[in-house]
Amino acid sequence: MLDKQAVKELKQIVGDDAVFHAPEDLITFEYDATIETALPDVVVLPKTPQQVAAIIRLAARLNVPIVPRGAGTGLSGGCVPVEGGIVIVLTRMNRILELDAVNRLAVVEAGVINFQLDRAARKRGLFFAPDPSSYRVCTIGGNVAENAGGPHCLAYGVTTNHILGLELVLADGSIVEVGGKTRDIPGYDLTGLVTGSEGTLAMVTKATVRLMPVPETGYTLVAQFKDVVDAAGAVSQMIAKGIVPQCMEMSHFEALARLLAGGGEPAVTASLIVEVEGLEENVAVRGPAIREVLEASGPAAITVATEAAERAVIWEGRRAALGTVGRIARNYYVLDGVSPRSKLPQVLRQVGEISQKYGLMHSSSFHAGDGNLHPTFVFDGSQPETVQKVMAAGEEIMRLCVEAGGSITGEHGVGLEKREFMRFLFDDADLSPMLRMRKAFGAEMFNPGKIFPTKAAAE
Ligand SMILES: Cc1cc2nc3c(=O)[nH]c(=O)nc-3n(C[C@H](O)[C@H](O)[C@H](O)COP(=O)(O)OP(=O)(O)OC[C@H]3O[C@@H](n4cnc5c(N)ncnc54)[C@H](O)[C@@H]3O)c2cc1C
Repeated sequence: MLDKQAVKELKQIVGDDAVFHAPEDLITFEYDATIETALPDVVVLPKTPQQVAAIIRLAARLNVPIVPRGAGTGLSGGCVPVEGGIVIVLTRMNRILELDAVNRLAVVEAGVINFQLDRAARKRGLFFAPDPSSYRVCTIGGNVAENAGGPHCLAYGVTTNHILGLELVLADGSIVEVGGKTRDIPGYDLTGLVTGSEGTLAMVTKATVRLMPVPETGYTLVAQFKDVVDAAGAVSQMIAKGIVPQCMEMSHFEALARLLAGGGEPAVTASLIVEVEGLEENVAVRGPAIREVLEASGPAAITVATEAAERAVIWEGRRAALGTVGRIARNYYVLDGVSPRSKLPQVLRQVGEISQKYGLMHSSSFHAGDGNLHPTFVFDGSQPETVQKVMAAGEEIMRLCVEAGGSITGEHGVGLEKREFMRFLFDDADLSPMLRMRKAFGAEMFNPGKIFPTKAAAE
């Protein structure tokens, strides 16, 4: 617990209206989009990197944890302050400082919302490629920390492929620049190292990001299937034929479809969105070729959208998928695993079997092209035994992904939720250089309790 003197000092740094310490205010910052919660001691909303540095120096003096936070949409408990301390929220650092259309880059403060950056870029014929479904609220700092993905990352790469440089505040309060505006900076790739480090190495206060030219045209197909395994088969077919579209997104609304069918057999439970973008000549050939493969996979229906407005409607629907689940279910728990694309049908079948074994309903929407699965359990969290079943089923699915040759996270990070599952992939020898790296940054008090299995982190 921070004393009154510490709160006074924080107010001197950022102003009275940017420090929250009353219990009713702290509750607002005890969670992200997962199910675990923990209260911070105090929440601070700085406006400049100098203020961030002063807060960090104070935290170091008091020996209390620092927990960076963007919009709090994370899906692995990353910004949940499990060891208390000071939560630094970056949402007031929300300016686009530079948008250079000639060099196709932007310099933004860490609290800029992904959608705001994308919208500003599109006015200049460019776009920001990483597009998590939470893009209307999540921040660029959060995207960098989680190395976020999204539907278009199949073609364009995840966040790390679009970050040229970062401004960081380190554990000793120094403000440093890593990377820059050019493509290849000599020395260690610290930009790459910090991207995906989940707030455990440094505070990101600014990012220089790469922008892409908006494609000339696009062709978006939606194929609906009775069964998700058939839909996954269509994905494998496409990969086997060497077809890699810009996006392959799956929505599997088994729980919702059964509800609508009054518990009976629903006609359709899965939709596969496939999109190609690029030059008109290219799209005109690839679009119909994909339609042919999809038709051969036995869908219940296929629709095609070529107009920008129609395509936008499809994507808004896809992005709203998790929110829709949130509206129909009392609680939901989203997993984030990776399976080799060729094994998707087998892994999905096993996910269904695991859900059945625990008597759980699941629905999911996921980036099938990347093999990135988000099985989502819908349940009533007021029943402790159901929560236990959900967690046990989640662990089995993570093991399943690793045994299939995949991973425990495709884009949501390890955070709090999956730190013990790191053992499925790494032994002590593997974890040791990661922990030593953190020590070299002097950053042990940055977001403690995240990423590393409890025993390894204590060593
Ligand atoms: C409906 C929904 C859909 C989603 N869809 C996707 C998706 O398609 N793809 C995807 O990748 N994710 C998705 N997510 C997860 C989440 O939106 C992303 O992980 C996002 O990048 C988190 O950004 P944020 O600003 O909310 O970060 P937060 O949740 O606030 O923080 C996430 C992590 O980043 C750290 N952090 C935040 N800001 C900084 C900073 N400035 N410096 C250092 N560390 C920092 C925090 O400590 C924490 O560990 C989704 C979430 C929801 C709720």
